[in-house]
Amino acid sequence: MADRFSTATRSEIMSKIRSKNTVPEILVRKYLHSLGYRFRLHERNLPGKPDIVLKKYKTVIQVRGCFWHLHGCKFSNLPKSNKPYWISKLMKNKERDKLSDKNLNKMGWRVIVMWECKLPKNFIKLKSIKE
Ligand SMILES: [Zn+2]
Repeated sequence: MADRFSTATRSEIMSKIRSKNTVPEILVRKYLHSLGYRFRLHERNLPGKPDIVLKKYKTVIQVRGCFWHLHGCKFSNLPKSNKPYWISKLMKNKERDKLSDKNLNKMGWRVIVMWECKLPKNFIKLKSIKE
C-alpha cells in the first residue's frame, strides 16, 4: 500500500514529531515527582544526553519513543514511502542508544529504559530505584 501522503508532506509530518519533552517523557517525570524523586533533564555531560538523570542514585532513565528508537512493536511501523531512508535513519538511532547505554554502564550508571508502548505498566520499574 502506498503512503497516503506525498514525500514532502510525510517529511513535514515526521519532522514535527518531537524527540524531546514528549508525552511519554512528561508522564514519566510526573510519576517520578509523585514518588518524591529529584532529577535533571537532558544531561549534556553524559553519553547520549539521558532524558532523566537521578544523580543521587546514579541512575538514568531513557524514555524511548517506539518509532524513533525502532522498538519493533506495533507502534514502530515505518512510513510506506521512502522506506530505505527511514530504516537507515532509525537504525542509526538504535545503534546510538546501544552505545550510550553501554558507555553509561561502564561509567557506573544504571540505565532504565522506558518504552512508550509499555507505559504506564513499566512505572513499577521506577519504584525500585531507591533499593
Ligand atoms: Zn514499543
